[in-house]
Amino acid sequence: MSDAQDLGGRGGFGGGRGGGGGRPQRGIQRLFEVVRSERIAPQLVRLHLTGDDFDAFVENAGREKLALTDKYVKFLFARPELGLEPPYDLEALRAQLAPGDLPVRRTYTIRSIDFDAKTIAVDFVVHGDEGLAGPWALRARPGDKVVFSGPGARYHPDQGDDVTHVIIADDSAIPAAAAAIDALPPAAKGIALIEVPDENGHVELNAPAGLEVRWIHRDGAPYGVPLAEAVEALERPAGAIDAFAHGEREAVKRIGAVLHGVWGIDRQEMSISAYWAYGRTEDGFQEEKRSPVGQIL
Ligand SMILES: Cc1cc2nc3c(=O)[nH]c(=O)nc-3n(C[C@H](O)[C@H](O)[C@H](O)COP(=O)(O)OP(=O)(O)OC[C@H]3O[C@@H](n4cnc5c(N)ncnc54)[C@H](O)[C@@H]3O)c2cc1C
Repeated sequence: MSDAQDLGGRGGFGGGRGGGGGRPQRGIQRLFEVVRSERIAPQLVRLHLTGDDFDAFVENAGREKLALTDKYVKFLFARPELGLEPPYDLEALRAQLAPGDLPVRRTYTIRSIDFDAKTIAVDFVVHGDEGLAGPWALRARPGDKVVFSGPGARYHPDQGDDVTHVIIADDSAIPAAAAAIDALPPAAKGIALIEVPDENGHVELNAPAGLEVRWIHRDGAPYGVPLAEAVEALERPAGAIDAFAHGEREAVKRIGAVLHGVWGIDRQEMSISAYWAYGRTEDGFQEEKRSPVGQIL
């Protein structure tokens, strides 16, 4: 029997119907556990997760959605000092805890799925002691339990041979960018600009020969600034462009101003998304989406 529980109806996952013929179940908590942890770069921990809920998760999402490269799930994390064990009975917890003590959502990309081993891989940026997800991922050991809902997903790289790919990401969007690069056709051409702390932060990518990968080193500069400057210095490739730009919010605003304002790419024709905002927890970042500071274009 599955340990799935209702997340409480604020899942916010777009997209169509899942597999299995019925309506996709949104907001269901899928209980997984850590199989193993790898440090794929100083700033990135990869966790391989599995669970009895794997089949239900795959069936509910549908293989079509799982083939999209930016698929993400929403983990629920409780403050460690409360000693709560997932899955969380949110209704009961709402009656017992102060609102600030309730488990919170954190959004992460599924880097890859191994359907034979029934595992998913998720790459977490470790960004110090602040926050819940980053510190949890750093401490996570085999057998540790975690719950998430989803997935949501929208993007898959264009498979046409007349398009130039422009892939722009910071550390938090490396999983989605790397999955997009995995899905490029062998003859794909274009450029990937990826911001990492320094040269030790590079990760392995399966880039086709025609994709130039340019690592942008922060080297202590503020998050996203070197990436935005690199995009501002880029000449617009001729012809059709498949643009993907995900990362820190203020950087994404500057990058959007280039892609849309200077290069003339329609908002609907590109995949552009703020994944986090400097100095904000994800709760604050999501809240600000409703105010002018949260608008990226
Ligand atoms: C669709 C989507 C997909 C995402 N996929 C991934 C993914 O695959 N991997 C990933 O690592 N992140 C991903 N993110 C970003 C992630 O959700 C946020 O970084 C989140 O805030 C991390 O939660 P936390 O509990 O660690 O920190 P929070 O409690 O949210 O924040 C605590 C502090 O840490 C800072 N902080 C948060 N994230 C970072 C960061 N990346 N670098 C430096 N400082 C940070 C905050 O500004 C804040 O000051 C994704 C976001 C979205 C919307």
